[in-house]
Amino acid sequence: MKLFAPALRALPKVDLHCHLDGSVRTSTLFDIMKNKTKLPCDTAAEMRKYVEAPSTCRSLTEFLNKFEFFYPYLKSPQVMERIAYELCEDASSENIRYLEVRFAPCLQTGGVVVQEDIVKAVLEGLSKGSRDFNIKTGAILCIYRGTDPSQWEETYRLGEKYISSGVVGFDLAGDESRFSGENFKDLFKKAFSALIPVTIHAGEAAGWESVKEAVDFLHAQRIGHGVRIFENGFFLDRIKQMKIPLEICITSNVQTGVFKDYSFHPVADFYRRGLRVTLNTDDRSVSGIDLTHEWKIVQQECGLEIEDVLDMNMNSIEAAFCDANTKKLLKEEIQKETRRIMEKVSAQKPQAR
Ligand SMILES: [Zn+2]
Repeated sequence: MKLFAPALRALPKVDLHCHLDGSVRTSTLFDIMKNKTKLPCDTAAEMRKYVEAPSTCRSLTEFLNKFEFFYPYLKSPQVMERIAYELCEDASSENIRYLEVRFAPCLQTGGVVVQEDIVKAVLEGLSKGSRDFNIKTGAILCIYRGTDPSQWEETYRLGEKYISSGVVGFDLAGDESRFSGENFKDLFKKAFSALIPVTIHAGEAAGWESVKEAVDFLHAQRIGHGVRIFENGFFLDRIKQMKIPLEICITSNVQTGVFKDYSFHPVADFYRRGLRVTLNTDDRSVSGIDLTHEWKIVQQECGLEIEDVLDMNMNSIEAAFCDANTKKLLKEEIQKETRRIMEKVSAQKPQAR
């Protein structure tokens, strides 16, 4: 069965791969930037075309250029707290019940602002947002490829320090095609020894070998994207056997040109082959999407049904980095609410479908 708005929006959801800096409200950017620079537009609505990748976007360069426009204005703890709080509200408005928010604190430092200021601010924003909007959150700290090793060490130190206070894991982000994971082995070995969960961006800009590196040498428990494992059937089977969840973000993959259109995306193939597929947003504002949109697109363009999507939502809960008790409660709550909504949809058939 296919299911679209409004019931689709109402269903309880989990998003494990969401970048804070790519999910800032355009109206907030307008608000922050209007007194600091000469903007190319007069209203928040007009800002969208400068922040959002156009529907024709099929290149990583064009996609990343969108960040250039506003990135310098995020370098402030106050701004980061605000956008973390607002992200909770936005996610909650489409009934995301659990959200893992990732960010690289080293990218927001400068002047007197150090990584810890940014981490504390984001955790504060998430904590207030969770309280006010009935959503559970966890922060993932991104160690960033292409930056100075002292930055990696500091991000790692903060992850260890805040692991029980809002941080739930580490990620390795940045340009995987230019900076291999080789240099990060020791750091992720330490995370593994400290029992801190790890996800690694791999198999998107770089090939399947980067996913192999992530699972074999960087102790990845999940893979951010990982879509290019389609290039090697044997390795794909290994990822399946290892039950490694893939954080799939289909619109992002299309906009950055990994696949030329939704219909070429392997999400349905992966799912049918039994891989642990999860559906996520990546960059809500820059992609101009939300999770409801991604749930709709996989049904409309990739041949999947709502039952498949709900199954993937369960995969997301299972793969979440939160503690076991939170996970158990979340699972019960989401299953119960999903059942209630789906029963209502069935009772209304066929109009609601
Ligand atoms: Zn990402």
